[in-house]
Amino acid sequence: MVVVHRARFVLSPGAAAVTDGAVAVAGGRILSVGSADEVLASVGPGAVVHEWDGALTPGLVNAHTHLQYSDMAAVGLAAHAGFEAWMSAFMELYPVPRDWGASAAAGAALALRSGTTTVAEIVTDAAAGSAVHDAGLHGIAFWEVLGWTERAWDERGERTVRAQLAALPATPAIGLSPHAIYSLDTAVIRDLARLSAELGVRQHIHAAESAWEDAYVRSGTGDLAERWRANGRGEFALLRDGGVGTGVIRYLDDLGALNPSTHLAHGIYVDAADRALLRARGVSVALCPRSNAVIGLDAPPVAAYLREGNAIAVGTDSLSSSPSLSPWHDVAALHDIARAQGYAADDLHARLFAAATIGGAHALGMDADTGALRPGARADLAVFPVSASTARDALAELVEAGPDEASLTVVGGRERWTRTPGHDRSSAGV
Ligand SMILES: [Zn+2]
Repeated sequence: MVVVHRARFVLSPGAAAVTDGAVAVAGGRILSVGSADEVLASVGPGAVVHEWDGALTPGLVNAHTHLQYSDMAAVGLAAHAGFEAWMSAFMELYPVPRDWGASAAAGAALALRSGTTTVAEIVTDAAAGSAVHDAGLHGIAFWEVLGWTERAWDERGERTVRAQLAALPATPAIGLSPHAIYSLDTAVIRDLARLSAELGVRQHIHAAESAWEDAYVRSGTGDLAERWRANGRGEFALLRDGGVGTGVIRYLDDLGALNPSTHLAHGIYVDAADRALLRARGVSVALCPRSNAVIGLDAPPVAAYLREGNAIAVGTDSLSSSPSLSPWHDVAALHDIARAQGYAADDLHARLFAAATIGGAHALGMDADTGALRPGARADLAVFPVSASTARDALAELVEAGPDEASLTVVGGRERWTRTPGHDRSSAGV
């Protein structure tokens, strides 16, 4: 069966906007995209046509989230004075017994409502491991690895992580998330890069999220270094040896962790040399500006990333550090940050729209399949309400003040979310 979604505007990164456009879908794939007249003529009679009053776009890609923390929203709705303060608030709630599977499922439902079709999901507790799969979302479930010293890792680390990975559902895809440079020993980060290559899975790492990571790596100093020493983690090589004399990004590169099958989250505290290295290694960065603000961190250097041509994507992070799972809200924050940082070019709307769609797909290694509306791609799309009367204004409206909720979310050709079915849509055979 052919289904045609017709909308006031059809917007896709890298393509001309279409007013009164349509997308034809069959067998979970996009058949055609264009003006409604052309698409309807090409599919012939018998197609089911849904008409939408809004802007139809590729499904959004949330390139960094932890859906399992969706019922820790009390932490994300507060304001924190910095990473340590946020971490204390988080750790106060984390051990409270809860159903991580249900929490992750609730987050997955919110992601679909926001128009998201693909996620980079970090799974810390096994009970949350099937939520992406169960909700019908695309993306990657990255198994989070943290807390290993080299000594413990040598005894049982790789065996443990291989078993944990094997327990996750194989679809949509699995990956490895070495948590961060301060929660894993140096040799473990190196070994995980080797293991991910061997298993053919992608990596996703929190990096340069906090200003103190630099001193921690460079010289094994700073507040966290002192805290770890006091808590018996002084055997981490960086602390034992007094650092490696480089910053976070160079350190990860020296460990073999930076390559096109890895993407980073946050990337706030990076300089021009770091950004050049990320470009040279083909590493995307998922920017999560609202999470950064809630935690009390600085804004990411989005203007520099854009000017210098880095590959960027957009992540909401989790509800434990962000008020919602709507990527549009982070896009709006990035828009304001980029302007405040002096990015004046008029391609800002288009580039941030691209970051939240094809840029996210690229970060996950899925840009051949999703992130743009084109014949043959997976039918991942969403419709958003807009009040603008031109396509150009509709894009500006979405980027600067995108809605909480989509009117429709379709993943792989299947409707996974529809707002008030029958209210703002009409169906008719042609
Ligand atoms: Zn995170």
